[in-house]
Amino acid sequence: MPKRAIARLMSGFRQFREKFYLGDDTTYNKLSSGGQGPKTLIIGCSDSRVDPAILSSAGPGELFVVRNIANLVPPYEHGGGSHGVSAAIEFAVVNLKVENVIILGHRQCGGIKALLYPKETQAGGFVQHWMKIAEPAKSRALRKAPIEDQDALWRHCELESIRTSIENLRSFPFVEEALQNRGLNVLGLYFDLETGEMLELNEKDGEFSAIAL
Ligand SMILES: [Zn+2]
Repeated sequence: MPKRAIARLMSGFRQFREKFYLGDDTTYNKLSSGGQGPKTLIIGCSDSRVDPAILSSAGPGELFVVRNIANLVPPYEHGGGSHGVSAAIEFAVVNLKVENVIILGHRQCGGIKALLYPKETQAGGFVQHWMKIAEPAKSRALRKAPIEDQDALWRHCELESIRTSIENLRSFPFVEEALQNRGLNVLGLYFDLETGEMLELNEKDGEFSAIAL
């Protein structure tokens, strides 16, 4: 007998099946016979409160999604290693030829908190190692907010890490090529789960501002 949380998920799957497989909706018919063709890659955080599909009310087949701790893009590294995020970016940009790549950050990011206060996580563990990618963001945030104002520092670092991920994204040769040759659109977004606002990074002035909805 499944535990209550699993039973809840199975009940949700039943509803999904009723909608897409037992009803009139032909979405999966098309998606299974024609394959996927998402227009957008979203790199989001694993945080349970910021599911990109839920936040954007996206339908099946609309989004190609990578989620990891703190929605980070590592710098381009050729050669060995288990580069799961890089593999997903390559597949989305080179094979699926997505039109947009979105880095989706968010308020109250636990990964960013772990970067600022590493003692709260496993010493020498995977989180600490992974979060080193965002060290440049931490340095910039420390110049923008006083260390004693923990909330402001946390928020600045969340925003800065989106800038870092965009810089790293552009270090991938096939991303730069897609930017130059076929107008790939790269966006930095930030979901403030405290206020319900979505902020966008403005390419021209490099600042974040709330999107008018
Ligand atoms: Zn997060």
